[in-house]
Amino acid sequence: LVSRKRKKEDTIVNVNGEPIGIGAPSFVFGPCAVESYEQVDAVGAEIAKKGLKLMRGGAYKPRTSPYDFQGLGLEGLKILKEVGQKYGLGIVSEIVTPTHLEEALDYVDVIQIGARNMQNFELLKAAGQTNKPVLLKRGLAATIDEFIHAAEYIMSKGNEQIILCERGIRTYEKATRNTLDISAVPILKQETHLPVFVDVTHSTGRRDLLLPCAKAAIAIGADGVMAEVHPDPAVALSDSQQQMDFETFDAFYDTLQTFMKTH
Ligand code: PEP
Ligand code: MN
Repeated sequence: LVSRKRKKEDTIVNVNGEPIGIGAPSFVFGPCAVESYEQVDAVGAEIAKKGLKLMRGGAYKPRTSPYDFQGLGLEGLKILKEVGQKYGLGIVSEIVTPTHLEEALDYVDVIQIGARNMQNFELLKAAGQTNKPVLLKRGLAATIDEFIHAAEYIMSKGNEQIILCERGIRTYEKATRNTLDISAVPILKQETHLPVFVDVTHSTGRRDLLLPCAKAAIAIGADGVMAEVHPDPAVALSDSQQQMDFETFDAFYDTLQTFMKTH
């Protein structure tokens, strides 16, 4: 169903009236994790100031260690919704289990399925039974074929509104947190009719690489870029090494705008 052979035209995913996959790249910015109302409100204001329409933030955080911050859960989703309504932003947030899915539908505009859950088939099927757009991230060690099949699980249940997100894969390379597989973008666009995003934060794990990798993503034809923004990354409860503060975010976005106009 997701194959380009079945459907020639690009699928356009609508998030709150915002079309994704129409040629011009979309942007999803926001903190790694929802930490407080004030934190999300500050980020929301920065995003809205740029005229952007989407915000991310994790309420359920799949962390490597059980002793690390696990997210605010439903409380976090409520904060996201409130700030989203205040600034007119569509909310993208990760859901980790089918049990949370139904209640989450009242709060999120896009269900994010994270890398660690790309092959959580019950979650994929449950998301496929909703009528919300799904942003599906590539698994840590998933081949492109496995990634496409994960999207097929969602679509097989009736939900065609799927965005694929390349977020880096695990390789022997230690210079970056993961290895951004930039060639996955044109391959996924050839093989499927779905919009393809690139998450520059989790793929690189390095603030100094966010801008060059975002340029590469846009140049190679990505439909969107995701990156993390936090009012004070040094005190962030997760991913403090790679989130952008507001000043860096301004420069990042300005440079990308110029890049898009001149390329
Ligand atoms: C995230 O986007 O918050 C996240 C945890 O990313 P990933 O699933 O790609 O690791
Ligand atoms: Mn993160």
